[in-house]
Amino acid sequence: MNLLIYGPPGSGKGTQAELLHQSFDIPHIATGDILRGEVAAGTPLGLKARPIMAAGSYVPDDIMIGIIRNRLQQGDSQKGFVMDGFPRTIPQAEALDSLLDKLGRRFDRVVYLNVETHELVRRLAGRMTCPIDQKTYPPGTEKCPVDGASLIQREDDTPEAVKKRIEVYLEKTLPLLDYYRRQGLVSEVEGVGTIDEIHKRVQTALGQSADVAKS
Ligand code: ADP
Repeated sequence: MNLLIYGPPGSGKGTQAELLHQSFDIPHIATGDILRGEVAAGTPLGLKARPIMAAGSYVPDDIMIGIIRNRLQQGDSQKGFVMDGFPRTIPQAEALDSLLDKLGRRFDRVVYLNVETHELVRRLAGRMTCPIDQKTYPPGTEKCPVDGASLIQREDDTPEAVKKRIEVYLEKTLPLLDYYRRQGLVSEVEGVGTIDEIHKRVQTALGQSADVAKS
């Protein structure tokens, strides 16, 4: 099962991708997490990416395509994957199609988490993140209820960066919806509700598409 979780920043892609990782035992490939790992490790890529991410802009396509090419070469993605945060531009999507083609693979489904802009802003601006498992909590929460760690605010969860992230999404990433709709791959899921409700909607969407594929 090769899946793409697609949606605007703050739509819950990471949370739902993690649940799909558990349900299907496939790796969760999240470019945002890979980049934050590079930033934390202080690598040359991390040093370059940090100010770009903090401003809410996109890391250049050639760098991102290189990251995904390397990631797909790791053995664990042979059994499938759930991709989150990549592709984010048409050139990234075209490069990924040709990479997957060379591997004899293709996406089975693109799950689009649909959430309105005012709800995205409400969720993102000021949210707090656990430095250990990256789970997020409402503004003002100080300690992680799971492991007791002091929560941090992601540099790109400030109101200015959130505004920029949504603008960049609308300009560069929204066109991907039509790109994948033309390939007949998109299942749209309402992204407002509890985490569990949305996970069930995603599973229903995937189950239905598997039935369509069989018939
Ligand atoms: P979100 O989807 O909530 O905005 P992510 O964790 O997926 O957050 O990504 C955080 C940041 O990492 C993005 O705003 C961007 O700067 C950078 N990034 C992640 N994936 C890509 C990508 N495919 N292309 C360009 N930049 C990326």
